[in-house]
Amino acid sequence: MSVLSLADVYRARRRIAGRVCHTPLIESQSLSEKAGTAVFLKLETVQPTGSFKLRGATNALARLAEQGCRKVVTASTGNHGRAVAHAARALGIEATVCMSALVPANKVQAVRALGAQARIVGKSQDEAEHEALRLVPEEGFAYVPPFDDLHVIAGQATIGLEIVEALPDVANIVVPLSGGGLFAGIAFAAKSANRAIGLIGVTMARGAAMHASLAAGQPVLVEEFETLADSLGGGIGLENRYTYALTRDLIDDTVLLSEASIARGIAHAYRHERLVVEGAAAVGIAALLDGVLPAERIKRGPLVLVVTGANIDMDLHRQIVDTASPQADSHTIL
Ligand SMILES: *Cc1c(COP(=O)(O)O)cnc(C)c1O
Repeated sequence: MSVLSLADVYRARRRIAGRVCHTPLIESQSLSEKAGTAVFLKLETVQPTGSFKLRGATNALARLAEQGCRKVVTASTGNHGRAVAHAARALGIEATVCMSALVPANKVQAVRALGAQARIVGKSQDEAEHEALRLVPEEGFAYVPPFDDLHVIAGQATIGLEIVEALPDVANIVVPLSGGGLFAGIAFAAKSANRAIGLIGVTMARGAAMHASLAAGQPVLVEEFETLADSLGGGIGLENRYTYALTRDLIDDTVLLSEASIARGIAHAYRHERLVVEGAAAVGIAALLDGVLPAERIKRGPLVLVVTGANIDMDLHRQIVDTASPQADSHTIL
């Protein structure tokens, strides 16, 4: 028995319908050729806030609004905060978003543009979370966790429903992994439909808290570094309630990537798919291009890469596209 039920996921889908996009699943020619199996991209980049975080945030806030809550606070590496700000505005709730100095300026501006209060605190997601939790008793806020919350997880899980409905014979799903709300949700929904679907988590090599925790057999703290995959930064919380256990029980493989690899993923998405993606969203493409996804598993059939967000600074994006070197064995023509 799980703490999460499929009924929770269907309830989330009803709650967010009309507020969040049912996103496209498109086949990629270049990546299918590379993989030797059909590769599909699940494009969360088209969500109104530029990332899938709108699903979980909308589900959590709509529920709080049903209960009469009028003020929320959260801590975020950027995309969750933006999603909370968007959902709060739509529901007529006040939102405060605590972010660390590591959060890129474009993401902070996006939160402010949606009418939320942005507070910049400390140099890590953990410090931002500390500040958010401090506000809860002081100013009467409801706290909306970025990942370790059943309503947030159920919201992200609606991606898994959409994938298995659109592609019933999907063999593997590749999911960017940070706090694990996204991974736990998609893995739960997909494996509820078919236990045999492989779930692969991909993250950056430095500062990957969930990976370190899985290796240690319990939630551990890791130092946070600057990375192109800024949305994958931050700890999972030593008091993690849901995402650690769900991820541990549902994950089939974990893959770690260098910064150069993530840059190649961003450049490939742009050159070959005409997609602007942020670092965190490029990790599935990058892992496939670098040939580091588990080969035995990948051979089994259709593969879905969840492309989680588009919120990259456009000057940085241009630099990466101009300078990222294609792989040595690539036939890419620039
Ligand atoms: C938050 C985020 C992730 C990771 O989601 P978790 O639930 O924290 O694992 C991946 N990609 C993007 C773009 C994100 O914003």
